[in-house]
Amino acid sequence: MDRTISILGSTGSIGRQALDVVRAQGWRVCALTAWGNIELLEEQIREFRPALAVVVKEEAAETLRIRTADTSTKILSGPAALCEAAVLPEAETALNAVVGIAGLQPTLAAIEAGKTVALANKETLVAGGELVMAKAAEKKVPILPVDSEHSAIFQCLQGQPRRSLEKILLTASGGPFFGYTKEALRRVKPADALRHPNWSMGAKITVDSATMMNKGLEVIEACHLFGVGPDDVEIVVHRESIIHSGVAFSDGAVIAQLGAPDMRLPIQYALTYPDRLPCPGKGLSLTDIGKLTFYKPDLDTFACLAACLEAARAGGLRPAAANGANEEAVALFLREKISFLQIGELVAQAAARQKAVPAACLEAVLEADRAAREFVRQAAR
Ligand code: NDP
Ligand code: MG
Repeated sequence: MDRTISILGSTGSIGRQALDVVRAQGWRVCALTAWGNIELLEEQIREFRPALAVVVKEEAAETLRIRTADTSTKILSGPAALCEAAVLPEAETALNAVVGIAGLQPTLAAIEAGKTVALANKETLVAGGELVMAKAAEKKVPILPVDSEHSAIFQCLQGQPRRSLEKILLTASGGPFFGYTKEALRRVKPADALRHPNWSMGAKITVDSATMMNKGLEVIEACHLFGVGPDDVEIVVHRESIIHSGVAFSDGAVIAQLGAPDMRLPIQYALTYPDRLPCPGKGLSLTDIGKLTFYKPDLDTFACLAACLEAARAGGLRPAAANGANEEAVALFLREKISFLQIGELVAQAAARQKAVPAACLEAVLEADRAAREFVRQAAR
């Protein structure tokens, strides 16, 4: 199998693992992007020789241009250049592994250009899901999920009649604060929130896992990807992260996808679908694991999760507001400007302030995002 791919967010956790897959399969990469990590981007340029590399931060781009003058890679800068990376004619697939709503416009640009989109950037679907899915349907472009749970659901649905789908079982590790009370969460610091039990990920999603915002975002992501409502998604806390999610059918059958917790499998599946190829990483031994456990989520303690479910039910621009508020609140928490519990309070308040009017256009989504961020910044003063 031969592949040429654009990788947006190549210096991040997903981006680096995607390059492991590309290296192992001997595929080509035509575009790589970073926000500002030019040291790693330079290494990647020298190894993968893409036609284009984008650094969003302007000053860093100039330094990289000088450092890579001996290569044939063109260096562009600024957020708009991410869209250029997403639409290069050589690429069949654009893998979007940027973090945050910064990924929305490149996703739309890739779809507009008819690229298959391998989507890790969940914020894209949470904030702009209506626009993205409508554009993908119009252009007949597949959106292939990279998020492990959504990849699992997608795998379980292969060859099954959609009309018989009863519900989605969305598994959650529960994060580092599983079993904590609100009182215990009061004392939590960024370093505690950044220690995830099962996965090594970027800082933002690691905090999202600790607040369980990540699971709330994933419910909304699942609704868009699989055309279900939030009440058709059951969250199951599963500490071992071996069952990556499942689906229940009307005849009572439950099909789940299992595997070692390693993102390279869902990344690779999104790039080889519908085929499967040997993948770097170790296989799964159920007898070594021995026991799997399951719990209900604690919606009283994890306010972000409750806020996302409410936003998902209200629909329209509410999820965009919840997402924007969360991005801002997580950044403030990591700089120790607000407490861990304030993240959930601010997300709930910002979402409730947003009118649940339909997400009619990109400008409306970006305005809901902007207003929610502004609200959080003001409230944190
Ligand atoms: P990281 O923070 O590790 O990487 C983010 C990437 O995006 C980096 O390349 C970073 O560049 C770049 N970036 C950051 N900010 C911007 C911006 N404003 N504009 C353009 N590029 C930017 O994140 P992850 O890889 O952990 O996550 C990426 C996405 O995948 C997220 O949406 C996350 O929710 C999702 N995801 C991640 C999983 C994981 O295991 N990590 C699992 C499932 C989903 P630089 O390095 O220069 O900062
Ligand atoms: Mg996930």
